Amino acid sequence: MADKYEKVIELAKRRGFLWNSFELYGGTAGFYDYGPLGAMLKRRVENIWRDIFVINEGYYEIEAPTIGIEDVFIASGHVGGFSDPLTECQKCNEAFRADHLVQDIVNNPDTMSADQLTEVISRNNIKCPECGGRLGNVYEFNLMFKTSIGPGSKRTGYLRPETAQGMFVDFPRLLKFYRDHLPFGATQIGKAYRNEISPRQGVIRLREFTQAEAEIFIDPRDKTHPGFREICDIVLNFYSREDQTRGSIQKMKIKDAVDKSIIAHEFLGYCLALTYQFLVRVGIAPEKLRFRQHMKDEMAHYAADCWDAEILSERFGWVEVVGIADRTDYDLKAHAKQSKTELTVYVPYDAPRKVERSVIKPNMGILGPRFKGKAGRIADVLRSLKPEEILGDTIEITLDGEKIEIEKGAVAFESSVEEVHGENIIPHVIEPSFGIDRITYSLLEHSYFEEEAAEEGEDRMRIVLRLPPEAAPVQAAVLPLLAREELIKPAEEIIRKLRKAGILAAYDDSGTIGRRYRRNDEIGTPYSITVDYQTLEDSTVTIRDRDSMKQVRVSISDIADNIHDLVCSGKSFEDAGRKV
Ligand code: AMP
Repeated sequence: MADKYEKVIELAKRRGFLWNSFELYGGTAGFYDYGPLGAMLKRRVENIWRDIFVINEGYYEIEAPTIGIEDVFIASGHVGGFSDPLTECQKCNEAFRADHLVQDIVNNPDTMSADQLTEVISRNNIKCPECGGRLGNVYEFNLMFKTSIGPGSKRTGYLRPETAQGMFVDFPRLLKFYRDHLPFGATQIGKAYRNEISPRQGVIRLREFTQAEAEIFIDPRDKTHPGFREICDIVLNFYSREDQTRGSIQKMKIKDAVDKSIIAHEFLGYCLALTYQFLVRVGIAPEKLRFRQHMKDEMAHYAADCWDAEILSERFGWVEVVGIADRTDYDLKAHAKQSKTELTVYVPYDAPRKVERSVIKPNMGILGPRFKGKAGRIADVLRSLKPEEILGDTIEITLDGEKIEIEKGAVAFESSVEEVHGENIIPHVIEPSFGIDRITYSLLEHSYFEEEAAEEGEDRMRIVLRLPPEAAPVQAAVLPLLAREELIKPAEEIIRKLRKAGILAAYDDSGTIGRRYRRNDEIGTPYSITVDYQTLEDSTVTIRDRDSMKQVRVSISDIADNIHDLVCSGKSFEDAGRKV
């Protein structure tokens, strides 16, 4: 019997949500096309994300190139270390993730080196899963797609493996945009590319996928969040490091998780809450959602804390769909070093502070007679030095390219008290990183139901996608009871009204009305509007609710307002009109 994944993918292919890319030419693993309904569904998911992160949180969206220059990915560490361990079959040449082949034999294979994995494979006599052939030595395979910029191969470029670097590279510009005030954040929704070794998990592991990422720059000394009180009572399924050792998930209020230091700080707790609100709003079942903390050996060495939102899928188990990390100052420091540019924020103190400073005072009585005309400029260079930089008995400076040695006795060290109004700090970065494709697939799976629901004259079983109205690709179907001129005309008039109101409405007059309801249930259309003979008498139509299959009768004059409020403003179906 087909499992849920097969059923969802069958429906997705048949009704135009997801298609294998390049099908005409036999297809290739790791790529999927979004068909007409899938592209609209995905866009709605992205727009809900925008509503939360861009409009509500105020983290403006930017759009950087999907090709990056090498410097960027040297700084980010992707050139040096963004790889997976690969082993190839010596007989059929098929490639495999070595860590995946040994995951039932050893713990945490993703933390093992290529040599260690080669050893495990040979010791356990693991053979090629495809043909039983001998597997070759494991080596690290860089997952970035490499290209060259411009003709020839002079300048290396890479397709970006994540959208995040765009925000880091634009940090100085963003800082000015936000008028030099922390905290601030920027977001990006766009394609990322990873040359995955053997993507055998359909839409879960793609070579081209869409990420929605926020980089939020905060003051490292203050990781509280002004909105924390509003979300602190939300209860999440936590799977902390301790829970993983025990093997159980626990439900807890975010406030308690922060108080008990399970989550490192309020700001991360706030991001977990936003993630939960987003995922549930697009249609993920809350009971199939958990937040898993990275184990110490799994977390990047620089990270202060890191959580994955994981969604339960019938075939793949718990799948990571979002990563939420406190990346500290790692990225800005790395780009500052690579670009030789200071990436800091000037933070003023609440009140000026008195600071004792040691300064260098050149002795002109010694420098004047010795250096004559140059003495003034030499004194300026000496004043610009920091006392702690002067270690030996002589000071070496460079003036107009000439190296000059000066004995330490030609300067005096004096201390002075200065008033300081602020300091330059490197912000810390909080990064929620969402995989939009995994989320879109998951919400198809979570909203897919086969149920007994006999409506008159129809099959007893129906397939229904219980997508939230806000996420459904088609928002209303307009159905004349019969394909007759007198009913088609008002139906077309209603379609026009709905489209003018920004509602995506589909017209359908083929087959029985029951069959048409079923067709719309299957693609998640939340409301079907039926034009019948009563319409011709009193200018009313029925609206059928997809989930309850109940109907109400409403006037054509306010059909557009009614559907708009149902789809976009969360109005309940009970309030839409009078029952029929
Ligand atoms: P990462 O940068 O690896 O933490 O990825 C961030 C998010 O991107 C993950 O939580 C996934 O949802 C998504 N993602 C990563 N790799 C892939 C992939 N190969 N295919 C689809 N989504 C992915």
